[in-house]
Amino acid sequence: MTESNLGIQKKLIDGRLIASKIELSISEKIVELKNKGIVPSIAVILVGKDPASVVYVRNKERAAQRCGILSKKDVYPESLTEKELLNKIEELNNDPLIHGILVQLPLPPHINEKKIMEAISPVKDVDGFHPLNVGKIFTEDALFYPCTPYGIVKMLDYYDISVKGKSCVIIGQSNIVGKPLAIMLMNRLATVSSLNIFTKDIKSITAKADILISATGKVHLIDESYIKKGAVVIDVGISNIGGKIYGDVNFERVINKVSKITPVPGGVGPLTVAVLMENTVKSALVKSGINIKLI
Ligand code: NAD
Repeated sequence: MTESNLGIQKKLIDGRLIASKIELSISEKIVELKNKGIVPSIAVILVGKDPASVVYVRNKERAAQRCGILSKKDVYPESLTEKELLNKIEELNNDPLIHGILVQLPLPPHINEKKIMEAISPVKDVDGFHPLNVGKIFTEDALFYPCTPYGIVKMLDYYDISVKGKSCVIIGQSNIVGKPLAIMLMNRLATVSSLNIFTKDIKSITAKADILISATGKVHLIDESYIKKGAVVIDVGISNIGGKIYGDVNFERVINKVSKITPVPGGVGPLTVAVLMENTVKSALVKSGINIKLI
């Protein structure tokens, strides 16, 4: 390995490594559960054939298989009605053998996503999108935290990157990433700025960030001119262009300026899936009364 490659390697936040450690830790809990006759299981619902959703669901199934979690996939045509989906969720809510329910988003436009998220039992809401779990992020006692922001927090913890007193700038304010992450970082006493497409002079804000998190889906939006020297950069973006995956950050252009950075792929993505598995095992543990301390 050349000296410059070694330098890059040292800066990388290895999402796959952290995800594999989470998977290992939950595998041990799964053995404990199985000894008690409990098989942690997740029901995954996919409506339609959105290519990105098909890939995400496949990745989740593979992770479940690796850890020893039973995954039950229900695939429905785009024409599924909202009522039919609500009925299916009700069935899964009442199924004692199912610990986690995940409805892959986005849903077809005739189905109200908010209504669907609210229909999933909060104790099986392993995606952490039910309003009860979302609200409890404020008070830090949610049963399940949303997978991507929680994965990012775990990532920072793993590399001993404290956010306390740091300027954390989040670009993108979706309900699944930007907003919950802002609250989680505030809970950890970060000084948080939330930016969106209408924010004026974005660079003047990002250039002061100790930790910059980008979740926009805009390919290579971020170059070196957005970055403060020595910043930690977390790239949440996933854009598939011609079968190749791109992040929001132009890795080559920022690498010399950052102290740590997540690659795409291999950064935030694997953590999102690992936290989903962890949440599923947590659900099974809570139900069985086993100590729920995970990593
Ligand atoms: P979204 O697509 O719902 O919204 C995008 C957000 O980015 C909005 O708040 C918008 O205002 C902001 N934005 C867009 N362009 C901007 C610009 N030029 N300047 C400033 N702000 C801008 O958000 P999402 O669902 O959180 O998804 C964002 C990206 O993250 C997508 O690429 C998605 O695929 C990816 N994602 C990855 C994971 C993972 O596990 N790695 C998980 C969820 C989402």
